[in-house]
Amino acid sequence: MARAEQVLRLRALPAVDEVLNKSEISQLLKEYPRAEVVGAIRKVLDTARNKILSGDGQDLQLKTIVDDVLQLVNQWKRPNLRPVINATGVVLHTNLGRALLAESACQAVKTISGGYCNLEIDLNTGKRGSRYSAVEELLIKLTGAEAALVVNNNASAVLLALGTLARGKEVIVSRGQLVEIGGSFRIPEVMEQSGCRLVEVGTTNKTYPQDYEKAIGEETALLLNVHTSNYRIVGFTKETRVAELVHLGQQYKLPVMSDLGSGFLVNLASFGLTDEPTVQQTVADGAHVVTFSGDKLLGGPQAGIIVGKKEYIDQMKKNPLTRAVRIDKFTVAALEATLREYLDPEGALQKIPTLRMLTEPVDSLHRRATELAKTIGDGLKDLAQTTFEEGLSQVGGGAMPTAQLPTGLVAVSPRHVSVEQLTERLRSGDPPVIGRVQGDRLLLDVRTLQANDTQPLLQALIEALQPLKGGDKQ
Ligand SMILES: *Cc1c(COP(=O)(O)O)cnc(C)c1O
Repeated sequence: MARAEQVLRLRALPAVDEVLNKSEISQLLKEYPRAEVVGAIRKVLDTARNKILSGDGQDLQLKTIVDDVLQLVNQWKRPNLRPVINATGVVLHTNLGRALLAESACQAVKTISGGYCNLEIDLNTGKRGSRYSAVEELLIKLTGAEAALVVNNNASAVLLALGTLARGKEVIVSRGQLVEIGGSFRIPEVMEQSGCRLVEVGTTNKTYPQDYEKAIGEETALLLNVHTSNYRIVGFTKETRVAELVHLGQQYKLPVMSDLGSGFLVNLASFGLTDEPTVQQTVADGAHVVTFSGDKLLGGPQAGIIVGKKEYIDQMKKNPLTRAVRIDKFTVAALEATLREYLDPEGALQKIPTLRMLTEPVDSLHRRATELAKTIGDGLKDLAQTTFEEGLSQVGGGAMPTAQLPTGLVAVSPRHVSVEQLTERLRSGDPPVIGRVQGDRLLLDVRTLQANDTQPLLQALIEALQPLKGGDKQ
């Protein structure tokens, strides 16, 4: 572009006041502070100026500037954390917020968060109470343990338990259980953080009780079992069971801790979900301390739950670290409501979304996928080809890594855009939609789609499947 033309175009750009006087923009002033709106106008004008200077030949009319300002201001209004449609079929998707709370838990959070509550006052005596009392009794009742404590997440539960029971001493763990959970939670590193010394025994695939026994010495404080929640060692294997460790612990007067990871409170073997020990079983096996997450298979809020023998839980309650990793009232409210659902285990399968999604019968999933394929197919017309398909979903959240859950899928083959363009547009849309890609198709797994997702999903697909401006599929 010639220099003269550039100068003319720069000069033709509207002034801030001119944009501000447009009726659409002055409307914004009713909703947003003036400084915000002026800031947006400046930003859009700066972008326009840079475009002209870099020789971009597009016409920058006043209307374009106004539209850009409207878009920018509306983007600011949009919360950074917002709902997403999960069409991946991964039930416990850590990046998508893990467990969905039961309706009762959502209600409890709403009720408690907007007003004062008895978080730390005993209403019977008027004296200071414990924030854990609302959930401790329920946890004792549901798991059969003597005592319970709840902290921020399971990573901090493990840190607290190890730091309390074995600081400066040795903890014996099998080489087959030196787990990494993702997000840099690695058992050896947590062990170091908590000030204990790790003593590895056995081999990756086989660890016998006598391997632990040989390693027991004066400095030993704890025998640790870590549930390999996100991987399995299969084939020629021997894992020392918690009950065997407890037997050994009794002989040497050593406590046994089991980090379960996922807290399973109902047995789902009849649904084909077999390879996860329940909390109750681990407690019944005699583990002195058991730790698990609140937002994995339990289906509650993010929390680290510690149950076990009173003498050890009491020691943890006195550890100053407990104060640093304590839960807030929202967690107490949501966790109490979630645990109450488990008092009726049959009802819990329906009311706790995680359990409902994991146990939905395959014929129901197929029916939902068939219906969705039809609704989407009708709505998309010739924007894409849409078919029903059978497939498999995953539990996710580092739980039951080998479980294969038969499901129903809707496969979408875009006509005008590539599948990469489609997923990118869906991700940046409103609401964002996350699915799975297979070859040149997008797969939508109905297992994790919620009752009112259909219309927004269809709308998002219609927008994302439109032909690109100025060209066909790339
Ligand atoms: C998931 C997991 C953790 C960490 O739990 P968070 O609640 O995510 O902190 C620790 N140990 C095991 C075995 C796990 O599976």
